[in-house]
Amino acid sequence: NTFAEIDLGEALNLNIRRCKYVKPTPVQRNAIPISLAGRDLMACAQTGSGKTAAFCFPIISGIMREQYVQRPRVARTVFPLALILSPTRELSCQIHDEAKKFAYQTGVKVVVAYGGAPINQQLRELERGVDILVATPGRLVDLLERARVSLQMIGYLALDEADRMLDMGFEPQIRKIVEQMDMPPPGVRQTMLFSATFPKEIQRLASDFLSNYIFLAV
Ligand code: AMP
Repeated sequence: NTFAEIDLGEALNLNIRRCKYVKPTPVQRNAIPISLAGRDLMACAQTGSGKTAAFCFPIISGIMREQYVQRPRVARTVFPLALILSPTRELSCQIHDEAKKFAYQTGVKVVVAYGGAPINQQLRELERGVDILVATPGRLVDLLERARVSLQMIGYLALDEADRMLDMGFEPQIRKIVEQMDMPPPGVRQTMLFSATFPKEIQRLASDFLSNYIFLAV
């Protein structure tokens, strides 16, 4: 019933203590072990449930073990290892701020890219290196079309507030993004889908994007 009991690694545990998180919230207590075990996950989670940490901790913990994997070298293209998609600039920035605290001194680099703002600053930030990319779907499609980001190395995908992304009309962009991850190596991507509601459209997304997943309702 403490974070120390979950095998997240010492650096991440130290940051969790720095954030003054003492006890995992219900969604964290259930989702984190499932993700650490490598399973895909669809989780029911409202704002305020602690869902950001629930998907960030397994991603950071996983990347800390993998960040020295060889990435392709292509001029001006970056190859993040994890992608967190969220519907809005505000939410993406919140996730980015939290993820940076969790990743402090772990060597894991988190970068955010969202629409409605000049792209150049974001491009410069990306060029300095990125392990975890937090992005809104429209801006990410733009970056993919410019070949400034490749999703070829993505091992972790988190879709946050998936119902809101669909309400905002992002389904075509999300499908386009996920299609680019289905290039090789197949079957190694781990996917987490978080949503407050589960209409048919979300269930269809889950059956298209997740494999052999666990459904968590807390
Ligand atoms: P979220 O649902 O991810 O937006 O988180 C809601 C708020 O709860 C944020 O301010 C988090 O920093 C905080 N929080 C998340 N998990 C915990 C925890 N285990 N203990 C204390 N605060 C937390």
